[in-house]
Amino acid sequence: MKSEQVVHRFKEKGYKITPQRRAIINALLLAKQPATAGELLQELRDLFPDISLDTVYRNLKLLTDLGLLNQINVKSGETSRFEFSDCPHHHHLVCMQCGASRCLDYCAMEKGGLAAAEEHGFEVVGHVFEIYGYCPGCRGAN
Ligand SMILES: [Zn+2]
Ligand SMILES: [Zn+2]
Ligand SMILES: [Zn+2]
Repeated sequence: MKSEQVVHRFKEKGYKITPQRRAIINALLLAKQPATAGELLQELRDLFPDISLDTVYRNLKLLTDLGLLNQINVKSGETSRFEFSDCPHHHHLVCMQCGASRCLDYCAMEKGGLAAAEEHGFEVVGHVFEIYGYCPGCRGAN
């Protein structure tokens, strides 16, 4: 996903692109791993000393609602991580201790789960599936 595509989608939906909004998009594009609102806030503070966690979080939620981001760790609100949704469909491991997440290049639902849904006469349009546990770093510390 390119910054201009995201900006285009915002404008299409009638939203204004503020400098803060553009900076949030760029910070997330540069992130190597899915990022939390708090991590993005730290990067943006140099540029925007007044920016609040709430502003970052609300913009991430808006991008998610527009279909531009995937939300990871959906269970825990403010520690949710976000990544752009133009990557191939995949799932995540979520560490319950440090909140780290890893992308898995694998869909556990494709065969079993989705077939079962169809057996119930259900037309499937999407699904969310996350694996919770402890990452190697946190396991070592315990
Ligand atoms: Zn961990
Ligand atoms: Zn991912
Ligand atoms: Zn899947």
